[in-house]
Amino acid sequence: MRCFHHPDTLLHRPPQFLVRGQPRPVPEKPERVQAVLDALGRRGDRVEIAPDAGAAPRAAVHSPEYLAFLETAHARWAALPDASPAVIPNVHRGPDMLSYPSGVVGQAGFHMSDTACPIAEGTWAATRAASDCAVAAARAVATGGAPSAYALCRPPGHHAGRDMAGGFCYLNHAALAAQEALGLLAARGLPPRAAVFDVDVHHGNGTQAIFRERDDVFFVSVHADPMEFYPFMAGHAHERGTGRGEGFTLNLPLPLGTSEEAFLAAVRDGLAAIGRFAPSLLVLSLGFDTFKDDPLAAFGVTTPGFGRLGRIIAGASLPTVLIQEGGYAVDHLAANLSSFLDGFEAVHRLPSAP
Ligand SMILES: [Zn+2]
Repeated sequence: MRCFHHPDTLLHRPPQFLVRGQPRPVPEKPERVQAVLDALGRRGDRVEIAPDAGAAPRAAVHSPEYLAFLETAHARWAALPDASPAVIPNVHRGPDMLSYPSGVVGQAGFHMSDTACPIAEGTWAATRAASDCAVAAARAVATGGAPSAYALCRPPGHHAGRDMAGGFCYLNHAALAAQEALGLLAARGLPPRAAVFDVDVHHGNGTQAIFRERDDVFFVSVHADPMEFYPFMAGHAHERGTGRGEGFTLNLPLPLGTSEEAFLAAVRDGLAAIGRFAPSLLVLSLGFDTFKDDPLAAFGVTTPGFGRLGRIIAGASLPTVLIQEGGYAVDHLAANLSSFLDGFEAVHRLPSAP
């Protein structure tokens, strides 16, 4: 498996976030990257440092104001009197609040949907490097250079919208990968159609929002029922896309406590829908927080179960870009990723070109 990593993804070290109003350590920590690198090293995977992809792929997904905010917010916040070590908003944007403020406190409220996306000193460098990993993996696959590639993205990305951070996410790496792939597919004369399949335990609300009105990207998500689970206000079964995108979003929420068997059955259903869409390429938002012992656990997936997940995904026989999302049981992350990749590579074959 070709894998893309960047050491700057270790620079994001937010001190805390709020859980039921209490400051708590952030489970999305740099040790996750080392656990993944250990797993890739043991498997003998080829790990490449992602080159700087430039600003264009990020600008194709995110707004100019939001990108400028992410890049400058920490330094501007740190210059405020008595500021906390990381940007954490104390105001949030409501649905009728449409004007854009000039100060960093107001902009933090405008661009941060919750208090689980603190911006610390290294946050921008880390998420920018993670976006380079995603673009590198997308280019490797969409140009026909590799049947699949894995991007070690940290922080994760699927809760980030066009101009909004949330849930440990800042830039939406899966969306960047899909958007980058579309142009490269078209250049090869292939139909510019991509599917994003999100199997993290949380709904990929940012990805859904970015592609909500699009019919060239089919977004499918299997996740814990948001009635009682983050992100609460998105990911419900009735959300199916809007405008041209109506019918190109599919949400398959499952109850808290869902077993491995039921989760994998829903994954098969999602993949069948993707097969009917007939994309040229698949982007997988790969979270391991469906693991039975994850700190944010809602499902009962075991380590061997991730191997079964890999086999099922690979059975779609699509060029596949793997984007790392969540997964916070750091001591099990290496084993869970290895299990997935072993299962995936045992099955993954692309149909030969006509
Ligand atoms: Zn998650």
